[in-house]
Amino acid sequence: STFTGLGLDPLIVTHLQSKMEISKPTSIQRAALPALLSDSDDGSARRDVFIQSQTGSGKTLSFLLPIIQDLLPLSSHSYIDRSIGTLAIIIAPTRELAKQISDVLEALLTMRLRPQDETPDDAASGPRLTRWLVSGLLTGGATRTHEKARLRKGLPILVCTPGRLLDHLQNTASFNVGKCRWVVLDEADRLMELGFEETISAIIKGLDGRRKLAMQAVQEGKSMEVGGWDWERRRRTILC
Ligand code: AMP
Repeated sequence: STFTGLGLDPLIVTHLQSKMEISKPTSIQRAALPALLSDSDDGSARRDVFIQSQTGSGKTLSFLLPIIQDLLPLSSHSYIDRSIGTLAIIIAPTRELAKQISDVLEALLTMRLRPQDETPDDAASGPRLTRWLVSGLLTGGATRTHEKARLRKGLPILVCTPGRLLDHLQNTASFNVGKCRWVVLDEADRLMELGFEETISAIIKGLDGRRKLAMQAVQEGKSMEVGGWDWERRRRTILC
């Protein structure tokens, strides 16, 4: 199957091919994309998804592509008012992993949009997506004050480590997550092993609402209770 066949917007497919040399979905992408792209946006059926796949399997794109596609309609007509706040949050266990995810995300965000008045699928000659979807890496590598200033301006997509994220949720008044639509726990099993269980639970509780939680784990196995979810029993979709 192809990315187009999986329901990915032709604009994104073209960008993947021409700028990132990615043309064929990996098996985890074939399994994850339909599940993560499928939910209608009426807010009623945003199912949480559990993805199980190894590092190196293409897991990063398996959650980044659906997020980009979900946020695309917000940017294709008018501009996103950055004061809308943060729309997607990706949590990774280490700074290094967060940086890797952020690099892939930035490569995706250089994508060009359709021009305003025409709508042929492949006419990607409009402005770049980065004009609206700015990503931010919050891992405690910069000063808290600097991060707060960036959050105040608005960062639609965040890639973070858990401690810094919780810190900002609790202490940065201008950090607006009221419209947040996605929370991804990348390598959730490692997050738990590294002792972030309570931090993650506090984060999930602080982000209550209808947002979709996508959890990715490298290993199958031990029960994981995350943010009040016992994933072994209650996860709704298991992939690969
Ligand atoms: P990940 O598992 O997300 O760490 O990805 C591992 C590597 O696979 C990265 O270098 C990606 O750029 C690459 N990759 C991801 N998806 C594809 C794909 N569909 N085709 C070719 N390479 C890919």
